[in-house]
Amino acid sequence: MSEPNNNQVKYTIPELIIKKRNGQKLSKDEIEFFVQSVVNGHVQESQIGAMLMAMYLKELNIEETTNLTRSMMESGDMLMWPKELRGKLVDKHSTGGVGDKISLVLAPALAACGMKVPMISGRGLGHTGGTLDKLEAIPGFIVCIDQSRMQEIIDSVGCCIVGQTKSLVPADKIFYATRDVTGTIDDTSLIAASIISKKAAEQVGALVLDVKCGKGSFNKTETAARELASKMVNIGNGLGVKTVALITKMDSPIGNAIGNALEVVEAIECLHDNGPDDIMDLVYSLGAQVLHQNCKTLSITEARHQMIDIISSGAALKKFRDMIVAQGVSEPIADSLCAPGADMFKILPKAQNVTAIICKKEGSVLEIDSLRCAEISGRLGAGRFKSSDPINYAVGLELCVHVGSKVKEGQTWLKIHHDAPLQKELIENIDSILSVVPPGEVVVNGSRIIDVVS
Ligand code: URA
Repeated sequence: MSEPNNNQVKYTIPELIIKKRNGQKLSKDEIEFFVQSVVNGHVQESQIGAMLMAMYLKELNIEETTNLTRSMMESGDMLMWPKELRGKLVDKHSTGGVGDKISLVLAPALAACGMKVPMISGRGLGHTGGTLDKLEAIPGFIVCIDQSRMQEIIDSVGCCIVGQTKSLVPADKIFYATRDVTGTIDDTSLIAASIISKKAAEQVGALVLDVKCGKGSFNKTETAARELASKMVNIGNGLGVKTVALITKMDSPIGNAIGNALEVVEAIECLHDNGPDDIMDLVYSLGAQVLHQNCKTLSITEARHQMIDIISSGAALKKFRDMIVAQGVSEPIADSLCAPGADMFKILPKAQNVTAIICKKEGSVLEIDSLRCAEISGRLGAGRFKSSDPINYAVGLELCVHVGSKVKEGQTWLKIHHDAPLQKELIENIDSILSVVPPGEVVVNGSRIIDVVS
C-alpha cells in the first residue's frame, strides 16, 4: 500500500468510517476522498469493509448514493465518443434472470434503429451463464475488446457486447470483492451505485433497466424490485443519463431455453422474428422505452412499432451477424448461424444426450419454477460458482411448455441437454418444478411487465 501525500490529506479514513457508523451523512467531498483513497491503494481492506458495513447498516440517502456513484464512475477511464454520436448512445441493463437472453436480441435491434449500443456486460457467477458466456458459445467470439476497437465497432456496426476492461470503474471491482466477503452485497444503495456507475462510465445518453422480481431473481418481492428500480432511475437521471426501468416478473424462465448455446439459438430465432411471445414482448418494450427516453418526440407506441418492424425486416439479424463478425467470428460461421432454417448445432456446442421428462398430470401450466431450473442447469455445468470454474456451453434445459400451455399426461414438458449421465437426485423431484392446475381452470399467460418506473 502506498502512503498518501500528507499535504493532500483532508480527512482520515477512521474519521469518515466513524461519521457514517454514527449515522451521519457523508458529504460529496468526503465520499470522493474515500473512493479516491481506495482506488489509490491508501485504504486498508479492513477499513473498506468497515465503511461498507457502516453504509449498509446506517444507509446512504439518495444524495450520498448519487455522490458515491459519481465518484465510482470517475474512479477510472470513461468511454469517450465523438460529438456526432451524442444523442444516439443508449444501453440496457438487467438485474439478471433465468433464460435471460434479451441483450443478444435488443442490442442489434437498437443498432438497426440507428442507435449506438456500447454494451459492457458480465459473465455469470451462479447457476447460469451471463450474457458474455452465452456469446462465447459461438466459436471465435471475443469479449475482451479494447476501447479503440470498441469505438471502431460502434462506428461501423452500431453495437457491441464486451467485457469490462480493468480501467473502467476500478472502485467497483474493489468494493464488489469486499462486499462479497463482508455480508454487504444485498444493499440497495450499494447495488444501485455498482450498476449505474458502470453504465454511466459508458457515457450513454439513455438507459433502460430491466429490474426483475420473483423466484428466479435476487429481488424476491415486487417491493424490493421497486425500491431498487427507483433508486437506479433517480441516480441515473442525477448523473445525466435519461434512465427508465421496467419491473418485470421472473417467476418462470424467460422463453424456452436455459443454457448458453441453447440460449444463443433462441436469441437468433427471435431475430428471425420467430421467438417466444414473452421474449419478443420484453425486447419490444425495453427497446421502445429506451428509444423514447433518447428522443421524447418519438412516442412509446411509435418506438414499439419501430422495434417490431426492425426485427421483422431482418435488419436486426443483419446487425447481430455484423456484430459477431466484428467481435471475431468468421464470416462463413456467422452467415451459417444466421441463415434461415440453419441447423445451428452444426456450429454451436451440442450436448451428447437429450433426456425427455414426461408430464404426469393433465391440465394447464400455472408456473415453472425458474430457480429450480437454474439450479439444475448449474449442476449440469451451464454456470460457474467461482470465476475460474470452466463452463459447459452445450448443456441446459429446453422447456417444451410455457405458462398457460395445456398439457396431457405422457407429453414431454422438458428436455435435459446433458453430457454426463444424469444423477438420480437431479431428476428425483423434477416434476414439482411444473405447477399444473386441473383441466377447466384457465391460466392466462400475461405480460411479464408489471410497471414502468421513470
Ligand atoms: N450487479 C452489479 O454490477 N453490482 C451489484 O452490486 C449487483 C449486481
